[in-house]
Amino acid sequence: MLSEQDIVWIGSDGPAPRETVHGSKAALLAVAAKAGLPVPAGFVIPAEAGAAPLAALSRLEALEGATLGDPEHPLLLSVRPSAPLSAGSVAPAVLDIGVTTATLPALARKLGERTAHDLHRRALQSFGAGALGVSGEDFEYALHDALRLAGTDAESDLDAAQLASLAATCAGLIEDEAGEPMPDDAHAQLERAIAGLAAGWTSRRARNRRLAMGHDPDQPLWIIVQAMRLGVGSEACGAGFAEFRDEATGEARLGGRYLTEAQGEEARMGLRTPRVLTRGERETLGLHDPSLEEMQPGAVATLRDIGAHLEHAIGDAIALEFTIERGALNILEVRRARRTPKAAIQIAVDLAETGAIGHEDALMRVDPAHIEEQLHPAIDPTAQRHIIGHGLAASPGGACGPLVFSPDEAEATAARGGGAILALIETSPEDIRGMHAAVGVLTVRGGMTSHAAVVARGLGTPCVVGARDLRLDRNAATLTTADGRKLRQGDIVTVDGTTGEVLDGAVPMIQPRTSGGFATLMKWADDARRMGVRANADTAEDADTARGFGAEGIGLCRTEHMFFQHGRISAMREMILAEDESHRRAALAKLLPMQRGDFVDLFASMPGMPVTIRLLDPPLHEFLPHGEAELRDIAAALDLPVSTVAARAQDLAEFNPMLGNRGCRVGIGYPEVYEMQARAIFEAAIDAEDQTGTHAHPEIMIPFVSAVEEQRILAALITEVANAVSEERGRPVHYTVGAMVETPRACLVAGEIAAHAGFLSFGTNDLTQMLFGLSRDDAGRFMPRYLDQGVFGHDPFHSLDLKGVGEMVALAIDRARAGSADIVLGLCGEHGADPASVDFCERSGLAYVSCSPFRVPVARLAAAQATIRATARAQLAEAG
Ligand code: PEP
Ligand code: MG
Repeated sequence: MLSEQDIVWIGSDGPAPRETVHGSKAALLAVAAKAGLPVPAGFVIPAEAGAAPLAALSRLEALEGATLGDPEHPLLLSVRPSAPLSAGSVAPAVLDIGVTTATLPALARKLGERTAHDLHRRALQSFGAGALGVSGEDFEYALHDALRLAGTDAESDLDAAQLASLAATCAGLIEDEAGEPMPDDAHAQLERAIAGLAAGWTSRRARNRRLAMGHDPDQPLWIIVQAMRLGVGSEACGAGFAEFRDEATGEARLGGRYLTEAQGEEARMGLRTPRVLTRGERETLGLHDPSLEEMQPGAVATLRDIGAHLEHAIGDAIALEFTIERGALNILEVRRARRTPKAAIQIAVDLAETGAIGHEDALMRVDPAHIEEQLHPAIDPTAQRHIIGHGLAASPGGACGPLVFSPDEAEATAARGGGAILALIETSPEDIRGMHAAVGVLTVRGGMTSHAAVVARGLGTPCVVGARDLRLDRNAATLTTADGRKLRQGDIVTVDGTTGEVLDGAVPMIQPRTSGGFATLMKWADDARRMGVRANADTAEDADTARGFGAEGIGLCRTEHMFFQHGRISAMREMILAEDESHRRAALAKLLPMQRGDFVDLFASMPGMPVTIRLLDPPLHEFLPHGEAELRDIAAALDLPVSTVAARAQDLAEFNPMLGNRGCRVGIGYPEVYEMQARAIFEAAIDAEDQTGTHAHPEIMIPFVSAVEEQRILAALITEVANAVSEERGRPVHYTVGAMVETPRACLVAGEIAAHAGFLSFGTNDLTQMLFGLSRDDAGRFMPRYLDQGVFGHDPFHSLDLKGVGEMVALAIDRARAGSADIVLGLCGEHGADPASVDFCERSGLAYVSCSPFRVPVARLAAAQATIRATARAQLAEAG
């Protein structure tokens, strides 16, 4: 039995329904009622109660001056299901409860014979569909038959007798379909309607749907029992819905539809053509039927006021259902407005600017995952999609263009002023130029931190990797879809890096806009966050992009990318294949001015900001020549026989290059390489200072360290070069030497390494690879299955694995701080813009995160949210 306390009222002074308990329909209606807006009285009960308590019913009857089932003054009710937002969709309301044989005469006296019969057939339809699960389509057919028989296509032409006959047909239909009639007793109708909604809610289908949507299947349902407002009758009557924000942009504007002589959701259902609400919209659409504003200006003015008032009171954009009963407007349902990610940003900012919510609230309302989408052209959501392949959504945004199958072709297309979609099995560092030139990248192999994915994110180029349902034949230059269709070079395709889909043909795009609400939100994020946000940028161009997105420095410059540019790879190969140190130094001397020039540009792009430059990291193996032609070129450059160069290349080839001659091992084995790079950095720092008038702040990072001696030896080497350059130029150089912590052993000995480092930066890509024993370049092959089967909850290359990798990082942080109290700690793996990983970094007290330029705004917002959460936790702890 329900006690008085179990019942909450809509529009009374007692406890109000709460959104998290009674659902948003009940809670938001109550806010409207409390604000003095016209909301019919009603109360909320748990569906499992099965019936409305008599005391509550009596109170409602007293408020309305009518009694349920009374043959003189019958009260009509609606029952409306309500469940917390996260519960997924709920059934429509059951309307017009209380229309029975006994109450029809009184309704006819009050509303007229025709309206009474109209109400009766509506009551039957609503009850049949909502309480007994009869298909709404059956009733539509019955209505169409009635219209045909009457020789009209307008419901309003049906007279009382025709509506009475339609009601009888509907009653018969219910008995046939549901095996039971609609009760002819008002109280029995109410009870059966509540039971019907409850049964629908707990049905296997509804539970499965909640489960599939990730919601609690056992969530309770609540029922709003509410006085009806009719929307049908002789004077101005009808029903509609109003929206106060543009769903796509979030801009404030009144939209919606209205249907005369209607109830509930009819204006949405398309059975009759509804009217628009405003004159402006009617004119824009070129419609003839007057808008509601032109028919009832007062109602639309009231709607505008209500919208503004409710948005402020609820602190969110809303939409509502309303009924007009004899000229009087009533609100029947309020819900949070649907919105695109772009609109969500604008709405949050507008609400905070009008004082409806605070800046922190606004920041917490925007999903960082949606931020990046705002920075790229996106595929128009209304566009038709002919999907031809699926892969991982590696770098967001949409791009379309002709298919090409080699980086050279991508460059050639760009040179002709076009933009190609570069399709490859997978990419490697030597494809970088082609990736730069392409507007979109597609690979059939690879995971979220494969080379293609990392580089494309860095460039902000839309990219799909691991599209395993496509077959790529590079020699034949064809891409074959799962159904056997062959696409050739020049065929137009679209890649959607936000969803991971590959589409046939060109698809319309929406251009990004980062001013307005977006810029304001970003500014608030910067005010709120504790951690710094830097960018992983390899070139001045990347650095400029990153600055534009608000980066506060560079957290990782991967210098190897500089060596794959035109004219450099051959000098690099000469260096690697040189017979001895003196030849190596000769080749390095060619590279030095190029490197210096790169760094000058980089420092100039980040004036006064820290620039972390990682010394050469990839396996030397990756630079070895491929094929005859390349071997011949190198042999000519080195003035050696081809066979000698081939033998040397053979000698340097490795079985497992990623664990071979790479990272700081190159620096230990060939110190002259790191020496050249350090010299280039210091000379560039001085040159850039002269150019910009501000100090350059190079932070030289030693990669892939696993033993303290590696760090000690190489830090000493760098210091020596710094001293030499300083002496030669007669100027001090300002710099820090640090280590990249990306091997498990480096984590364990982080305390010792910290003693020889000014900073440590966690390279969580390699650290994840090593701790899982999972190749970052091949993970795409099995990751989808792992995720589908729930073996992994998420892709650890995408979001930091807190249990394993996070634990290791936490241990390293403790040890590093113990080894050096003022060590600066940051993170520069791909996780640097993943919100959950950023939250971990905040909790761990890292100084900064660093991520691809286009993800910098994501990281700024995620960092702000992390700080807001941390502050809330601290305040809670303080409060005890
Ligand atoms: C890392 O390993 O996390 C990292 C940032 O370096 P890279 O991706 O270049 O290996
Ligand atoms: Mg690495």
